[in-house]
Amino acid sequence: MMIKIVIAGPRGNMGREAVKMVDKELGFQLTAVVDHKYNGFRMKDVEGMEPLDLPVYEDMEACFQQVSCDVLIDLTTPEVGKKHMLTAFEYGVRPVVGTTGFTDVDIEELSAIAEEKKLGAIIAPNFAIGAILLMKFSRMAAKYMSDVEIIEQHHDRKLDAPSGTAVKTAQLIAEVRDPKKQGHPEEVEKLAGARGADYDGMRIHSVRLPGLVAHQEVLFGGEGQSLKLRHDSFNRTSFMPGVKLACETVMELGVLVYGLEEIIE
Ligand code: NAP
Repeated sequence: MMIKIVIAGPRGNMGREAVKMVDKELGFQLTAVVDHKYNGFRMKDVEGMEPLDLPVYEDMEACFQQVSCDVLIDLTTPEVGKKHMLTAFEYGVRPVVGTTGFTDVDIEELSAIAEEKKLGAIIAPNFAIGAILLMKFSRMAAKYMSDVEIIEQHHDRKLDAPSGTAVKTAQLIAEVRDPKKQGHPEEVEKLAGARGADYDGMRIHSVRLPGLVAHQEVLFGGEGQSLKLRHDSFNRTSFMPGVKLACETVMELGVLVYGLEEIIE
């Protein structure tokens, strides 16, 4: 079955890669894109878009009324992404959302709508399959090595810290780790923040530098040994196998799934 796809945010770093991926996948058909600046244009006539002869819509509703679509890929901003998801649900379209920054309340509200409509949806703050495996391996290791520190590194345009992936990694570790406050009980920070953020007694450190993309290390320490798990996304193509998997999986779902880790065994 051919999956018909609309992409919102096609000029963005992630959106451009998603357009290329969907265009070359045999089981996918890109039918239109949604961009708030180029209503009525053809993609090939817009600088920064792939040279495809497909329509550009500003308004998501107009787009769904005029072109056929099974899946909406949203790679925009959280405010817009949420509106796009609500419109997609109204039109029976399944959203696959990589946009980050949704609140817990947003997720609850969107999950309730997906459940009521029995429509699949996936919100994945990290589409890099290697990063998802890193989270899972970390959870496995934490059962046996409960002293752990997470170091995440991102480009300096990232607004939130720590990253959603680092927090999710800490949550998964906390599910199996013996609760404990790490470090010396009387340790003193001579500079505020030197020991990083405290998540259930373990520490998370956020590095922001130009040139980086998305990287995470999880360090475990034990008597006379240490274990280091590391994942690097060197560019945005690293996220596309995850986007592809989500587009295929969402067609089989009747609820909203939050996090790619929920669909990778
Ligand atoms: P970006 O380069 O800033 O791209 C965002 C795009 O969305 C821009 O082209 C922007 O256009 C466009 N946009 C804004 N409002 C819009 C609207 N109403 N309709 C259509 N398009 C609109 O950002 P990015 O790096 O591609 O990231 C996009 C999102 O994905 C962010 O939330 C980011 O945190 C997230 N992300 C997720 C993953 C993952 O694995 N899930 C990985 C990397 C990034 P203008 O520039 O004209 O405003």
